[in-house]
Amino acid sequence: MTPGVRPLIAGNWKMHGTLRDAAALAEAVRAGAAGTGVELLVCPPFPYIHMVAAAMLGQRVAVGAQDCHAAAKGAHTGDVAAPMLADIGARYVILGHSERRADHAETDAAIRAKAEAALAAGLTPIICVGESEAQRLAGDAEAVVTAQLAGSLPEGFARAGGVVAYEPVWAIGTGRTPTEPDIAAIHAAIRADLVRRFGGAGEGLRILYGGSVKPANAAAILALPHVDGALVGGASLVAADFLAIAAAA
Ligand code: PGA
Repeated sequence: MTPGVRPLIAGNWKMHGTLRDAAALAEAVRAGAAGTGVELLVCPPFPYIHMVAAAMLGQRVAVGAQDCHAAAKGAHTGDVAAPMLADIGARYVILGHSERRADHAETDAAIRAKAEAALAAGLTPIICVGESEAQRLAGDAEAVVTAQLAGSLPEGFARAGGVVAYEPVWAIGTGRTPTEPDIAAIHAAIRADLVRRFGGAGEGLRILYGGSVKPANAAAILALPHVDGALVGGASLVAADFLAIAAAA
């Protein structure tokens, strides 16, 4: 945790559930949100964002998307523009998730372009970085993360309160996590990079940890220096687990 920074606990629902499931999950999160001092965010699949954002209107839970296009509009069949997301009530957008880097060959430059579009639309980008298992075993984790930041952070990121999520690829959905000292080391490196880039404003930007965060490991991870919240996948699909992670922050 960084002193004076309000933690953000973000749920990445990925490509799961029906409209009915999304409504029930949103309602359970909304109902449990009252007691928490952290900022809560849920990121449903595109078709459910409007409904969930309407349900969260005036509530203590923000809503975000899992991707956006780099253009504000145009001939891009099947894509979704950042202003559309803002228009239906989204406030955040996850960008550069490792599943998108893998499934859609997203590069750091493409992620930066999307982040610029998000900022222009008034959305707060959550930029995901993280090494593969081979890169970690080779001792390259910090270098990989630093290079991803250099390539993907847009101008104006700090002014908009942008968020970085450190998600080691090999920890996502696997039940495995780095050791606490390894998480702390990468988060310290990300902080140093943000301060180098943005000066004092970099001190207060939130750095989330993601990858197999569960109620059982949340308190220990969230207590580490420069871990200012969590990006939660699987456990965010169970409201009680998601809220337990928030309570641990
Ligand atoms: P997980 O996913 O919590 O299921 O490991 C995290 C993520 O992909 O954001």
